[in-house]
Amino acid sequence: MRLFLLNANGITVHECNEASALRIDACGAPAADDTWVASIVTCVPSPRAPERHALITRPGAAVTLGPDRLGAGVAELGHGDHLFFVGAEAILAGDALPKVIDDATADEPCAVCCTRRGSDGRTAILACPRCGARACDVCWLSAPGGYCLTTGCEQLAARDRQLAEPKPSDFCIWLDDDAAGDGEGQ
Ligand SMILES: [Zn+2]
Ligand SMILES: [Zn+2]
Repeated sequence: MRLFLLNANGITVHECNEASALRIDACGAPAADDTWVASIVTCVPSPRAPERHALITRPGAAVTLGPDRLGAGVAELGHGDHLFFVGAEAILAGDALPKVIDDATADEPCAVCCTRRGSDGRTAILACPRCGARACDVCWLSAPGGYCLTTGCEQLAARDRQLAEPKPSDFCIWLDDDAAGDGEGQ
């Protein structure tokens, strides 16, 4: 998952991954120290499961997830969610390329065609980054409509493409010279 953050510095892109939590301060800027009010934590519940993302907010934090004000606590985050801070907004973008499985389980037969990697033109076992479904590269690229083989999963299957990302017009807030005083003194 990537986080597109719009604040006074413009739009910046941040990677959410298992290695470290992404922490954001009250003004909507990434926080390296203890000033964070919101933390986005990524976990992979099991080796075959897709990544999941949680938002943790501190007591009193002025952070909003979509229409819900989050005082303190934990909420699950998903693709397309909007997070609002004071003078900043973030959009989560879950688009990703299929993951190449390269551990021992990649030598198991494809769950769809039962063919193993290395035989009959199969060069890789791939996993959907959204639902975790696995298949060999031949099955993967023959997915109907170019989407993941799982019914209802809207993840694009193509391995070589530009990732979808939010446009500037997808953000709900406007930051311009007049915005500096907004929200103050109410
Ligand atoms: Zn297959
Ligand atoms: Zn999928």
